[in-house]
Amino acid sequence: MSQGKIIIITAPSGSGKTTLVRRLIAASPHVGFSISACTRNPRPGEVHGKDYYFYTEEEFKQKIAEGAFVEWEMVYTGKYYGTLKSEVARIWEEGKAPLVDIDVKGALAIKAAYPDTSLSLFIQAPSLEILRERLQNRGTENPQMLEERLNKAVYELTFSDKFDRVLVNDDLELATLELVKTVEQFLKS
Ligand code: ADP
Ligand code: 5GP
Repeated sequence: MSQGKIIIITAPSGSGKTTLVRRLIAASPHVGFSISACTRNPRPGEVHGKDYYFYTEEEFKQKIAEGAFVEWEMVYTGKYYGTLKSEVARIWEEGKAPLVDIDVKGALAIKAAYPDTSLSLFIQAPSLEILRERLQNRGTENPQMLEERLNKAVYELTFSDKFDRVLVNDDLELATLELVKTVEQFLKS
């Protein structure tokens, strides 16, 4: 595997990470989305092999046993997520920088694995109230799951200073411009 640069994007759930990541991928030909594996159900419109590899718990555990992951974790109760070695290798082979969209703990693990060749970005909503509103408006979690995500967000916010850059996602257009500029500068450096 010829190792290149890697971009790590993390954020409490609901901050707008997926939205910003999609915009970055569309804007930058030098970046490839690393498709994670997970065991949660697809949301409406999500596609296996595009948004995630949606595995059963049994399939996921088989991949763990095969040593297929750079990192993996139970991100929410009973829900596994992991970064596949094959994805990162595929994107490097395409001559691009893999972009991993990952929770805070996983982001710290990837950062530790690639300390000199990674750019790590923490995306944050302007406030916890706005985060709650965004999650409610997205309408993809039941009330109990929403509270679990918000509790986790409060904890994750305490880690923001561990990352290379914090980006506040208030105005989506401005946040997109800042993200694209930061990543392009890193890839040129
Ligand atoms: P995450 O991937 O961090 O969980 P999403 O990208 O799914 O977050 O965004 C959560 C919700 O907030 C979505 O409904 C999305 O359309 C909305 N959203 C994202 N960015 C903004 C923004 N800057 N202003 C208002 N709403 C936003
Ligand atoms: P969601 O269910 O909203 O798509 O993702 C939930 C959380 O899991 C997000 O913080 C997302 O970044 C994280 N996540 C996605 N893929 C991975 C992965 O491969 N590894 C880890 N550790 N977290 C991931």
